Amino acid sequence: MDLYSLTITQAHELLRQRKISSLELTQAVLERIREVDGQIGAYLTVTEGVALEQARQADERLRRGERVTPLTGIPFGVKDSIVTEGIRTTCGSRILEHYVPPYQATAVRRLLEAGAVLLGKHNLDEFSMGSSTENSAFFPTRNPWDLKRVPGGSSGGSAAAVAAGECFFALGGDTGGSIRLPAAFCNVVGLKPTYGRVSRYGLIALASSFDTIGPLTRTVEDAALVLQVIAGQDAHDATSLAQPVPDYAAQLQRPVKGLRLGLPREYFVPGMEAGVEAALQEAIRQFERLGMEIREVSLPHTPYALAVYYLILFAEASANLARFDGVRFGSAAQQAQTIPELYLETRGKGFGAEVKRRIMLGAYTLSAGYYDAYYLKAQRVRTLLRQDFERAFEVCDVLLTPVSPGVAFRLGEKTADPLAMYLSDVYLVATNPAGVPALALPCGFSEGLPVGMQLIARHGEEALLFQVGHAYQQVTEWHKMRPALGR
Ligand code: GLN
Repeated sequence: MDLYSLTITQAHELLRQRKISSLELTQAVLERIREVDGQIGAYLTVTEGVALEQARQADERLRRGERVTPLTGIPFGVKDSIVTEGIRTTCGSRILEHYVPPYQATAVRRLLEAGAVLLGKHNLDEFSMGSSTENSAFFPTRNPWDLKRVPGGSSGGSAAAVAAGECFFALGGDTGGSIRLPAAFCNVVGLKPTYGRVSRYGLIALASSFDTIGPLTRTVEDAALVLQVIAGQDAHDATSLAQPVPDYAAQLQRPVKGLRLGLPREYFVPGMEAGVEAALQEAIRQFERLGMEIREVSLPHTPYALAVYYLILFAEASANLARFDGVRFGSAAQQAQTIPELYLETRGKGFGAEVKRRIMLGAYTLSAGYYDAYYLKAQRVRTLLRQDFERAFEVCDVLLTPVSPGVAFRLGEKTADPLAMYLSDVYLVATNPAGVPALALPCGFSEGLPVGMQLIARHGEEALLFQVGHAYQQVTEWHKMRPALGR
């Protein structure tokens, strides 16, 4: 097997036994990036010098027999909405094209302290707004399984990079599916943790009450290893959770027999592609064979989830993006004579169409006269969505749903119709307003393209998601399939 397609667990074992060095591992991945990224477009910035230096340091630690972690010497990439000290962070936008952050995101800092090796920054939809990575101001990312198709979004660069062997794992951001949708479209694992489980410090805010940072990996086990390092309270993020971080790896092997798997009736409705439906049904049978009990459950407010999500998101995004005014943040327009001109020029030129659409809709829903009708009402229904999950978890332990009604779509297929694009997130957006954790993992193929399933658990129960996902990956091979790229 090629070095660049190992899992973190496999690479760690080889590093520990000194069969390979981190430098070899890093060079293999940098070579792979040179070989395939011209076709994929997963990276906005490759930090080759930084990576090689960090790899040498990791080798030094390993050589001296110092304390190492499962991530020591393992190369990774970061979605470009997460700031990296001294390394350009664009958020996929012209307005931040030349922004070099003076500080490090907490999740990145923790990974570097654990000895992981930073390869660079991954492409995304501008300000994480989108489901296909076509909204990047720079170039679209392509799906490694079919270059005519999208990788999903908004963490499309991260998922494509993990799938194509251009990094061993990635940090993505999930506000309404942005880790899980691309994970499913690219046949990798993606976790949206419980709101607050991972510090948001250094994540460029989209909707602050939904935003999360999480891992994209090749296996569930690897996702557990990454979460172990990035989870935990942080003085820089008042919404980060104080609860201790459990030992995720220690709980992976627990048997799933007797656990109750809930199937929400509202998520298994007509409209799903036949191949997706078939893959999901097979996954359910697999869980039955593992001894899980299948329960039908109801999340009755599901039909309102998309509206609630987008109304609140537009409102929070329009407020969050006010800071990009050419004074506090963002490249200032040079010709402006007055303050209003400065704002208009900077924002008019710096933001793309989808970002402007959302700022305008958000300003509208927050304006006097509409606030009660839209924003306040959406917040009330948000409580109902959260209660739906609480009730469902009275009769089951884990929920299983599709990730998306279809497989990866073609580039350009949905760009003209924002509503069609928003609909790809229909199974994903309820979890963010509710705050519960959700794991996307591969469960089959439909006409040669990957299909993903989603597992959802109660607040703080990532360990249970890993346990169930890992049990599935012990008896299936879907996650081992790699795209036939550059061969
Ligand atoms: N598709 C969702 C949106 O456009 C995803 C957002 C996200 O999770 N960053 O809002």
